[in-house]
Amino acid sequence: MLNLDLIEFADLVRPIQIVNEIIKQIPEITIPVPLDDIASAVGIGKIEYSPLDGFEGILLANKEKTKGGILINSNSRHHRQRFSLGHELGHFMLPRHGHEMRCGINDLKTSTGKQLSRKQKIELEANQFSAELLMPKKHFKRYTGFNGSPSMQCLMNQANDFDVSFEACAQRYCAQHDEPVAIVFSHKGIVRYSCKSPDFPFWINPSKGDPVPAFSFTKKVLNKPENSITSDCSISTNWIGNDKYYETPEDIIEDVYILENGYATTMLSFEDELEEKE
Ligand SMILES: [Zn+2]
Repeated sequence: MLNLDLIEFADLVRPIQIVNEIIKQIPEITIPVPLDDIASAVGIGKIEYSPLDGFEGILLANKEKTKGGILINSNSRHHRQRFSLGHELGHFMLPRHGHEMRCGINDLKTSTGKQLSRKQKIELEANQFSAELLMPKKHFKRYTGFNGSPSMQCLMNQANDFDVSFEACAQRYCAQHDEPVAIVFSHKGIVRYSCKSPDFPFWINPSKGDPVPAFSFTKKVLNKPENSITSDCSISTNWIGNDKYYETPEDIIEDVYILENGYATTMLSFEDELEEKE
């Protein structure tokens, strides 16, 4: 059983502050993060899994949010259930959030980059809380292989060990990696969206809704068997545009993971260090 000193949380309002305090107080924490134990240490007396109609997670707590219970939709996939549990726990621990929350699939998908209403901001914070807690920065960055060159195999291992969905892990991977790396998600040859690490300076050419570049390596292997990873170089202009400060390298590495039902993921990185323009 875990013990947390709840007094220490009194002044914390941001998701990352609260998660960091949890991680700080449990130095012996193991991966995958034991969400149930953490929930019970902060006052969640009961977590129930049952088929919910139109909701992924429900938080019912007292007004002071000292105790409560969480309901999770048992019809959803395992990783979604886990993410929902982190999300509801976020509502419980984030002081500005309500004590009775009913969250649907769209609430779990709220992300940055658009004009958000107050309600959406609250949902976004709960999502940030869940991602931070499921993949604590300290443990994520220290993962064996994470600090080397970007690697699809390492990303897959991380998703598996942290017990999170591949896509949630890929976003975290991009956000935390110190090398220039970008990940492009596609479905049936059409780009869904992409994300990139802070040090990846280039624009990704194909936007949402565009086809995977015709002469890319990804395009060539889209019909490979599911669950395979293949890797090769292609001309970088397939994927990236010019940058003001960095020379565009001639080649780009494509690390391609073919998932089920036409989904594919392309990890883009460079062989050599990027050169600044003179
Ligand atoms: Zn919510």
